[in-house]
Amino acid sequence: MKRFITLNIILCLFSGLQAQDSVFYKKFFPDPSYSMPVPITTGNKSFNYFTKYKDAVQFIKELAGKHPQLIKIGSIGETQRGRDQVSVLITNQNSPEKEKLRVAILGSIHGNEPISTDGLLFLIHQLTEDAGYAQLLDQLEIMVLPDINADGREAEKRTTSNGIDLNRDLTSLNAPESRNIKMAINRFDPQVVLDFHEFNPHRSDFKELSDCYSIGYDVMFLYTGNLNVDPSIRKMIAEDFIAPTKTYLTQNHREVSDYATTRRDGKEILLNMGGTASRSSATNYALQNRISLLMEIRGVTEGNQSVKRRIETSFLCATSYLRIADSLRSQIKSTIDAANKSSVNGDRNIVVTSEPAMKQMPFLFVDECTNEHKTIEFRTYYNMDQTPVITRDRPGAYLIFPCSKKVKDVLTTSGLVLKEVNNPQEMTVQVYKKNDAGSFELETKKINIPKDAVIIDALQPMGNTLSDLIEPEGSNSIYMNGQIKTEAKKGTLPVYRISHEQLSKL
Ligand SMILES: [Zn+2]
Repeated sequence: MKRFITLNIILCLFSGLQAQDSVFYKKFFPDPSYSMPVPITTGNKSFNYFTKYKDAVQFIKELAGKHPQLIKIGSIGETQRGRDQVSVLITNQNSPEKEKLRVAILGSIHGNEPISTDGLLFLIHQLTEDAGYAQLLDQLEIMVLPDINADGREAEKRTTSNGIDLNRDLTSLNAPESRNIKMAINRFDPQVVLDFHEFNPHRSDFKELSDCYSIGYDVMFLYTGNLNVDPSIRKMIAEDFIAPTKTYLTQNHREVSDYATTRRDGKEILLNMGGTASRSSATNYALQNRISLLMEIRGVTEGNQSVKRRIETSFLCATSYLRIADSLRSQIKSTIDAANKSSVNGDRNIVVTSEPAMKQMPFLFVDECTNEHKTIEFRTYYNMDQTPVITRDRPGAYLIFPCSKKVKDVLTTSGLVLKEVNNPQEMTVQVYKKNDAGSFELETKKINIPKDAVIIDALQPMGNTLSDLIEPEGSNSIYMNGQIKTEAKKGTLPVYRISHEQLSKL
């Protein structure tokens, strides 16, 4: 493995993009033969295997100069090293459509997955240069954030410059880059969010099966199984977006799967397929009642291999989703409106924790020694199919006091509306008390609610985000993130539940 990486680094230092001469890549991951006008694929030898930040910005500026009626360049903030987190707004500004559907597209949240940015550069180019996409730009407003973790990408590392993984930080919000993304998404208010990543096909667990195996998929799709996400949003993601896009990619000679990582049970290797954690984008934006999809394209550790194919795979996914978004504009809007209303009505109980179904799932490998495909079945934690474990009624509102600046910031940056106490008074509330088993029980108690208590109406459009952050046993709650603590003697949290009627008295 090490020799493989070193060899790739040496090769790309000398030759820029590598021509595909190995039987393996020609057979399984052939590059498209047409020329691709992205800086890295136009043969400039000063590049590594991906387009560097300043050249990406220059490329976008040139396109914006040519198409001022289609492209507006902006910034959602700065990285820790002072690089602009560039935003590229693409739409036909002269189109008569007033209620365009909004799509946000994110790239390179992980810096060591750099071709996700190149894929988006190609997308920006094609959307604005190819007249075949004009109809999409009449109806859609597309915000592309092509290089969110520009510091990490320039340094070819996953995290930000201070070591934070941005796709594990969407509930803790410790990195300025994550806060900027969340605020940009809340401002733009997209109905659809697409997040492009690359996966490592040479996963060490699989090397135990055979040194010759690497993952055989071109692209794996991650979408949420979190039961607090509105069921109609989950259904639309799986049936209207993922399923037809898988078919389209297969028609374009790509191997596709739902996204899986590995877990261990002693010596046995199991798959962990899908996800429910709100600290990552696939679930985080779905809890905000948005269509949220994360694509993992075969790339990390591949260096300059099959770069054009990887760019094209991102492009095929993105254009499939954009066409779907365009054709289902009114259904998407009405599904999201209904989900927002359902949050405001508090229609469903809160699922605090849940567990995935166990399934036997096939997984595709390529054997790099024999140049054959190989399918192996694994016991799989299948996260798209969850059973509730702890459930709780939805309260009318939550109170937090004392409430730190950090907790207020997390709540508001997550899109929640906070209220102030106008009439401090004594009230009977529900308190979270930690039991001997380490989970929480609700106790009824009379307390004095002070002026500086923070009130959060639970019946607001972002109500699903709220319950995910507040209910303490959830794996990404402010309690689990260490942002609130139990009171040492009593074992209670500074979080209280009240009814909607009580809320109106405060
Ligand atoms: Zn990633």
